[in-house]
Amino acid sequence: MRWVRNLVGLAELCLESVCPLCQRSTARVLCCDCQQRLYCLHLAASEQGWQPPLPVLAWGVYGGALKRAIAALKYEQQTRLAQPLGHELAQLWLNFAASKKKSLMVVPIPLHAAKQQQRGFNQAELIAKAFCQHTGLPLQSHGLIRSRSTEAQFGLSATAREHNLAGAFELGEPFKTKPPQAVLLLDDIYTTGATARAAAYTLRRHQISVYGIVVVARALSSIRTEA
Ligand SMILES: [Zn+2]
Repeated sequence: MRWVRNLVGLAELCLESVCPLCQRSTARVLCCDCQQRLYCLHLAASEQGWQPPLPVLAWGVYGGALKRAIAALKYEQQTRLAQPLGHELAQLWLNFAASKKKSLMVVPIPLHAAKQQQRGFNQAELIAKAFCQHTGLPLQSHGLIRSRSTEAQFGLSATAREHNLAGAFELGEPFKTKPPQAVLLLDDIYTTGATARAAAYTLRRHQISVYGIVVVARALSSIRTEA
């Protein structure tokens, strides 16, 4: 029976080496072609965007293969994609001058409990785990709680969106008992920044300093708005 078990193991191994973006076989999580397509969207670490009130460091532009990779992670249960995405983001962070300055607690932007239950995981938390493995920064996945579902955001104006998000987060139990000195937020996508600002607002209201946010992908429109 052992050879059967071995065969099953081998089949699983082969399955695992299919690129989740193009279904071609690969020895790594992503095949070389898809990896390269991803790199076309890479932004170099720069001080641009790293400005108050909420400094943002993005690995890439939200589009093409990067958009596809995030969608596969979130909606097709391709959770292993969190590893390369988290490691790439970590490498960018380590190359970034601002990263040398402080000891920070990494807090992924949480999903509302109902949404997380439906999806089975929080993609930002999976990316944050890989990010912390690589940077050595401590992780606190329960620093924030999404107290209100923000599903109804669609179709709202930017101002209404901001208003809607104002009470969207609460401080998590670990931070109520032992607040950290400074937090680095982490999310998969940064579009208007309203979610990130709402999360930062909640922490700052409790005297917890927010150093900035690192994201895998940033909408081009949000970069242009800032420039
Ligand atoms: Zn591929």
